[in-house]
Amino acid sequence: MKTELMPVTAASIALGASLMAEGKLVAFPTETVYGLGADALNGRAVLKIFEAKGRPADNPLIAHISDKSELAPLVARVDERAQKLMDAFWPGPLTMVFPKSELIPDAVSAGLSTVAVRMPSHPAARMLIRALGRPIAAPSANRSGKPSPTTAAHVFEDMEGRIPLILDGGPCGVGVESTVLDLAGDVPTLLRPGGITAEMLREYLPDLAIHPAVLHPLQSSAEARSPGMKYKHYAPNASIVIVRGTPEQIAARYDASVAAGKKTAILCADRAPYGDRFAYELGHDAGEMASRLFAALRAMDDDGIEAAFSEQTPTDGVGLALTNRLLRAAGFQVEEG
Ligand code: AMP
Ligand code: MG
Repeated sequence: MKTELMPVTAASIALGASLMAEGKLVAFPTETVYGLGADALNGRAVLKIFEAKGRPADNPLIAHISDKSELAPLVARVDERAQKLMDAFWPGPLTMVFPKSELIPDAVSAGLSTVAVRMPSHPAARMLIRALGRPIAAPSANRSGKPSPTTAAHVFEDMEGRIPLILDGGPCGVGVESTVLDLAGDVPTLLRPGGITAEMLREYLPDLAIHPAVLHPLQSSAEARSPGMKYKHYAPNASIVIVRGTPEQIAARYDASVAAGKKTAILCADRAPYGDRFAYELGHDAGEMASRLFAALRAMDDDGIEAAFSEQTPTDGVGLALTNRLLRAAGFQVEEG
């Protein structure tokens, strides 16, 4: 299959919608990461997403809508908490998990009784949903196990030959996947941190719980409230160690690794303390760091890096999402300097 890469225009959106209406897959930009979309109400089309990504069949997808009024038919009920959160944070990077309605094919919810729904703020995503006239089921447009794509070029790397069309809307602003909030049970639970932070949610949900898997390895798969938690994520070929220490200690780790013959890199806020050592600079503010992390992880593979040492990252605000993704990329290897 030939994969077309087209800038977002009225014509490419119309083409994307017509391909999706025929049951085909289209990758498109959102404010978080690029999504790999299919008509969410067409179970056969949705199954193609799992095939193209190499995604385990028990890892459900997010249904994307273009207007709040499109939520009700997809879910069994919308309670007062959800209503308030929608008013506060939609459109935007907040996914909410609801008991699902019968409209949702099993392929979308991977057999669960719940469905995850989000209304993105990216205009191209909303135009595509409107043009299709149905919700779009979309996970991130990477091959399973690779970092989520934050540019159309990343999508092309992973999906060339597997899908007919990639809509290029430039780099994604948030750069990490949406916040996932489970509202299907009594205690609202943050399953995945993202651009809508725990602090922002707490204003509306004083009893918000944070699932332990956000910052710790799962002890057993029975603990997984979100099937995606079970799977290895964002892992580059390099072994990454997060070092709780000073730049001098990180530089010493780097030097020892280079002396052992390994192609080595540093992940840091600012390269200045590391001289001419090979470093990926993420920036000083957690939002900026989160938006650059996945591109840096992909660059590590392109650069043939075998070992990397990362500075510790903050865990407040968007820092929680950054640290959650970095810990997964590092396989939870955190060591004292
Ligand atoms: P992705 O968009 O690739 O990040 O994948 C969607 C994420 O949403 C995965 O981590 C899923 O596990 C999570 N998700 C989707 N549907 C549900 C659901 N019904 N309950 C809990 N988590 C979900
Ligand atoms: Mg994903």
